[in-house]
Amino acid sequence: MISSSIAQVFAKIVGTKWVLTDPAELTCYARDASVASGRPAAVVVPGSSAEVSAVLKAAAEASIPVTPRGAGTGLAGGAVPMEGIVLALTRLRGLSVHKRDLVASVGAGVATQDLHAAAENEGLFYPPDPSSASVCTIGGNVATNAGGPHGFKYGVTRDYLLGLEVVLSDGTLIQTGGRTLKNAAGYSLTQLLCGSEGTLGVVTNALLRLIPLPEERAGVLSVFDDLGAAAQAVLEIINGGICPSALEIMDRTTLSCAARDIWPAPPAAALLVEIDGPLEVVLRRAWETETVCRGCGARKANTASGGEASDFAGLRRAVSGSLTRLFPLKIGEDVAVPLGMLPSFIDMMGSLSADTGVKIAVFGHAADGNLHPNILFDPRDIDAVQVEAAIEGIFQAAFKCGGALSGEHGVGMLKSPFFEQAVGPETIALMRGIKKVFDPHGQLNPGKIWPHGE
Ligand SMILES: Cc1cc2nc3c(=O)[nH]c(=O)nc-3n(C[C@H](O)[C@H](O)[C@H](O)COP(=O)(O)OP(=O)(O)OC[C@H]3O[C@@H](n4cnc5c(N)ncnc54)[C@H](O)[C@@H]3O)c2cc1C
Repeated sequence: MISSSIAQVFAKIVGTKWVLTDPAELTCYARDASVASGRPAAVVVPGSSAEVSAVLKAAAEASIPVTPRGAGTGLAGGAVPMEGIVLALTRLRGLSVHKRDLVASVGAGVATQDLHAAAENEGLFYPPDPSSASVCTIGGNVATNAGGPHGFKYGVTRDYLLGLEVVLSDGTLIQTGGRTLKNAAGYSLTQLLCGSEGTLGVVTNALLRLIPLPEERAGVLSVFDDLGAAAQAVLEIINGGICPSALEIMDRTTLSCAARDIWPAPPAAALLVEIDGPLEVVLRRAWETETVCRGCGARKANTASGGEASDFAGLRRAVSGSLTRLFPLKIGEDVAVPLGMLPSFIDMMGSLSADTGVKIAVFGHAADGNLHPNILFDPRDIDAVQVEAAIEGIFQAAFKCGGALSGEHGVGMLKSPFFEQAVGPETIALMRGIKKVFDPHGQLNPGKIWPHGE
């Protein structure tokens, strides 16, 4: 709980109904989409950048830590409050598309899907497309440098970020970057703040680059009797000069959850490949993709366009949510490995599952080498030691492959114990210095990226 006097200070800034202290309401802000949980002392929901600034200033003066929050779809515990208040940015919903500049100005609380729709209305395209796009916010996407299936061809959130409006821990409001498509003046604070998971500043608005909408899209669905062959096909497709707009891999366990209506007895693996561009290019590349997949042992490789291609994309978006169909609990991990190591890493996940006795489903954005091994279990059958061994094993396998601790979900609370190993002590020291400059008193999102109490 916060004192009634500080609650009144916040209420004066945002209005009484936007300061939540009722225990039932606080419960809704205690978790994100991961297994982590906490408890906020209060939730404050500002309606403008000026209000965000005033709330942060008041919180700093009262030494109250602040956890910024978008839609709470994060998978690393980043928006889970360890102490202090939650600052929910969901009321910041300004959205305008400036077609002549190819720029959108987007409030932190806008759902990613709404930006997609607004851009498409103008014949433009905003490629970053996390599978949670219908609910996750642009502020959350910037804070986690969110990706999605389009990453290989089009890049991730950071690649579209031209400028930010950000409030610092003492309430100072700053602008970084701007509306130009190029900017080489000084340090890029915009790119530094992207992926900082609410530990350096609170994003209130983002200037995002838009590009022309691709003319056509087609999807190729390839079915394999061997997961390793599917992984090998990923390399062959890309090394063969095809640049897919999405290339997703799903193993049998994933398919048994996400595609059980299509395949009651699912195959060992499937690849969903999306090709976009002018019609002639799309048809040729789709045909080449089918040929490569068959050459790698696919028992079936079919091209679909229009509504059927959208069904493929829908299947991919359904994966993460469907994975609790087999077991009551899942821990969704997120690592990235160099592309050439994709088959080895997938192989290692099979061995890890056998060694620990824990089911591990593997799916992800294969063209980026960004995989989501998901640990699926029933706590009545599997003990915590086995689950912890599986988590540790996933990260150690990624490191062994020369990979990264996170491809797109961030470090949050859950991966912070592995962060130093991932980046090394010298880099850690430099990053700690950056954190001190932005947030000298450790007010912003304590316990995230850095272990709690540091
Ligand atoms: C079903 C499902 C599918 C998903 N698929 C993908 C995917 O394909 N690709 C992908 O990248 N991710 C994916 N995710 C993860 C998640 O949706 C992304 O990390 C997303 O960017 C989080 O946005 P959010 O608004 O929910 O942020 P939250 O979960 O609320 O917060 C995430 C982090 O950002 C910080 N934050 C939030 N808003 C702000 C702000 N305005 N200023 C500063 N910091 C802020 C929080 O403190 C926290 O550290 C998926 C999640 C689910 C549940």
